[in-house]
Amino acid sequence: MQTNELTLEEVQVASDRPLVPITVAHGDGIGPEIMDATLRIITAAGAAIAPEVIEIGEKVYLNGNSAGIAPEAWESLRRTKVFLKAPITTPQGGGFKSLNVTTRKMLGLYANIRPCISYHPYVKTKHPIMDVVIVRENEEDLYAGIEHQQTDEVVQCLKVISRPGTEKIVRYAFEYARAYGRKKVTCFTKDNIMKMTDGLFHKMFDQVGAEYPDIEQEHWIVDIGAAKLADTPEAFDVIVMPNLYGDILSDVAAQITGSVGLAGSANIGESCAMFEAIHGSAPRRAGQNLANPSGLLLGAVQMLVHIGQADIAEKVHNAWLRTLEDGVHTYDIFKEDTSKEKVGTREFADAVIARLGLKPQALKSVDYSTATGATFDIKVTPVPPAKKELIGVDVFLHWNNRDANILGEALKDFKAGNMDLTMITNRGVKVWPNGLPETFCTDHWRCRFKSEELKSSAYSDVIELLTQINAAGFDIIKTENLVTMNGEMMFSAGQGA
Ligand code: NAD
Repeated sequence: MQTNELTLEEVQVASDRPLVPITVAHGDGIGPEIMDATLRIITAAGAAIAPEVIEIGEKVYLNGNSAGIAPEAWESLRRTKVFLKAPITTPQGGGFKSLNVTTRKMLGLYANIRPCISYHPYVKTKHPIMDVVIVRENEEDLYAGIEHQQTDEVVQCLKVISRPGTEKIVRYAFEYARAYGRKKVTCFTKDNIMKMTDGLFHKMFDQVGAEYPDIEQEHWIVDIGAAKLADTPEAFDVIVMPNLYGDILSDVAAQITGSVGLAGSANIGESCAMFEAIHGSAPRRAGQNLANPSGLLLGAVQMLVHIGQADIAEKVHNAWLRTLEDGVHTYDIFKEDTSKEKVGTREFADAVIARLGLKPQALKSVDYSTATGATFDIKVTPVPPAKKELIGVDVFLHWNNRDANILGEALKDFKAGNMDLTMITNRGVKVWPNGLPETFCTDHWRCRFKSEELKSSAYSDVIELLTQINAAGFDIIKTENLVTMNGEMMFSAGQGA
């Protein structure tokens, strides 16, 4: 992989300040076209940047690099600490990991900020009043990417939520709200079902929120919250969410402003930051000079504020608003009654460049004179280690017979330490003892050995128990320890148990 630079003439238009090195990836699909448009606009506005171009994405994957990024590219990223990235295509299947997710996690970019704003009446939308910032947790949740096929019939994906990860993103949302004069932070989780993982997220929201009494706060269960967001977005201001909900709902939020092509995104960490559009590489639109470059451009605007060039950011943003207002629209937002001129990617960029220095006349112009970027000094509260006691173990078996009573009979005499067989579940539902014949069973069984009186056992007892089960010919897939912390049970009950 080669790192090459755009010519100095290209980047030095109207700028006499020191150039800030940034890493740039042109991406796949519509990526190169929208990146070209974005770089042309911001350099014409006087952005003092020195782009180092790296190659990532589909070509790198298909050359046999399953991470989609070469080691030299990491060096550029770690040196510049600022990444302007066009969307990339993740080939499906074949063990290819999403490079977006890898980059966010490897560089510690824990906060993903996605403003979704409507531009009524200039961009057609069912939601004329909408100005929502989605703050998406960016490193955890189901995006930990830990998946296993466990039996012939069952695959598993681990949902990982950490206390410090959650505290950081929730604190970030409140700090962001304060810094940007926002009045309310809403949290979406599904903690009525995932009481421990989403439960921790909600608990941290309440706990951290108590330190921000000046900001209104509320929690919604994500399903009805999503419905409300799609129906009445004006009821929301800043919304903080775990990773997966944030990914899905930011696309929804952007799309209902008029087009998914309108929203930019900043991925912020302690030392690095990445700026992009929220949408993907839209391969069907590639190479036709059709795509709307606005999402990436607004990502670049956030980048300019981040690197201390807020005046340039303001100039670009206001010229872009004026372009929308003048009805110069790409195909995705073009409507006969609201638009005046249908343009391609390049012509849209030219239209924005022609308006640099102008402000919108009806839409509210932006003022970045006091903007400080979106990096906040977030500290995580240290928590003393709890008193942890092992009181049992869940042993997961791959077993092909469908009759839970046969399995119960076969396992019920195995014991070690203070652990006895107390329950068997299939896909989380109790099937032994006293299961229902109607419950559908797969070949994936969770057998819970534990002390009913919460008496502790040693891990050597778990090994002894597994030895017995293994010697009886069962196929052990994995185990999960059952613990108490400070006397409280730290595992979920079986459904119907
Ligand atoms: P997508 O966001 O690429 O496109 C979906 C549709 O939205 C397009 O067909 C197009 O009609 C519209 N659209 C998106 N961006 C547009 C723009 N700028 N202008 C006009 N219309 C636009 O979603 P997808 O088709 O599901 O994903 C395609 C590829 O992108 C996949 O390989 C996926 O993994 C990848 N992806 C990458 C990123 C990223 O790099 N950050 C994010 C999401 C998806």
